[in-house]
Amino acid sequence: MKSFEFTRPADAAGAVATAAKAKTAQQGANIRFIAGGTTLVDLMKLSVETPAQLVDINRLPLDKIEAQPNGGLRIGATVRNSDLANDATIKRDYSVLSQAILAGASAQLRNMATTAGNLLQRTRCVYFRDSAMPCNKREPGSGCPAITGHNRMLAVLGTSEHCIATNPSDMCVAMAALEATIHIQGPSGSRAVAIGDFHLLPGETPDRETVLEPGDLITHVELPPPKSGSKHFYLKLRDRASYEFALASAAVILEIGNGTVTSARIALGGVGTKPWRSPEAESSLVGQSANIDNFRKAAEAAMRGAKPQSENGFKVELAKRTLVRALTEVVA
Ligand SMILES: Cc1cc2nc3c(=O)[nH]c(=O)nc-3n(C[C@H](O)[C@H](O)[C@H](O)COP(=O)(O)OP(=O)(O)OC[C@H]3O[C@@H](n4cnc5c(N)ncnc54)[C@H](O)[C@@H]3O)c2cc1C
Ligand code: SF4
Repeated sequence: MKSFEFTRPADAAGAVATAAKAKTAQQGANIRFIAGGTTLVDLMKLSVETPAQLVDINRLPLDKIEAQPNGGLRIGATVRNSDLANDATIKRDYSVLSQAILAGASAQLRNMATTAGNLLQRTRCVYFRDSAMPCNKREPGSGCPAITGHNRMLAVLGTSEHCIATNPSDMCVAMAALEATIHIQGPSGSRAVAIGDFHLLPGETPDRETVLEPGDLITHVELPPPKSGSKHFYLKLRDRASYEFALASAAVILEIGNGTVTSARIALGGVGTKPWRSPEAESSLVGQSANIDNFRKAAEAAMRGAKPQSENGFKVELAKRTLVRALTEVVA
């Protein structure tokens, strides 16, 4: 691992000012924030990330989960994934988020991993993680060997001819369904970004994964007030029962009255280049009876734009079945 400077700023303004000296907030940035380190240190050991300076944000006062006057919830950037998943309000009012986090990684990793770090975790594409291989995301313009190579784990939605990498997060899928808002403090002030706008599609620039700019520090995530009576469920399918990333997953939040779906928020994981909200599935369900035929129609709508590669065609049907099963469970 390359040597690096390590700093511990006393406040968020100091952290932002230090990181603002970096040329980019994305891949290759020479100054990086470090939170739990479970993504960043991993990639530094592989020489995929080679920052010259690490800015430790663990001492900043960003580790609280707080109720908001509007009935929503504010989650600090350094709240650990295990604390968030086991928080009483999250378990009661936003249970899809608790279920999604607990379906990810291992207990030890969740004890370290933070809310902001999880939002920014990198793809598990094997070529991205091997610095001896070309990869447009790691080295723009070098090519995408995954398209003709090993792509079993990779995306079928939101891909481009430059990158087909999957966003691996479970937490983000639940946050997409919950319509979370990401709050950012940057060199020129603070701003809020809806989670649907936070991650970028790969397009021609797969090295740019989010809207973050140099110096941008995620301070907290806000969840809107819970909808009383809504039903939540997260289902994750993977190659083994724990400690494995999703082949396909679904976060569903439904409201049902007299057997009819009155509102639906649906997001998919393991199949998209970003956490994949599906307005197609949602509009297919709203106003319809909550039954298996309509769940199947919603799943067909969700995967209509899928573009499978040589090894991952099975994900299209798997994702449909995952969504049908999640919808079936949530109304049970
Ligand atoms: C073996 C293994 C298995 C895993 N399995 C799963 C799984 O099944 N499902 C799943 O969802 N995840 C899984 N993960 C990923 C894990 O959830 C992430 O590594 C973790 O959430 C990252 O959080 P962190 O705090 O450790 O981030 P760090 O490694 O500290 O940081 C990650 C990135 O975020 C940036 N960053 C951190 N905080 C901020 C901030 N406040 N503002 C701006 N930038 C910031 C850092 O600069 C870095 O670029 C797994 C990880 C490992 C190692
Ligand atoms: S899919 Fe994306 S991350 Fe994987 S090799 Fe291609 S460009 Fe790199």
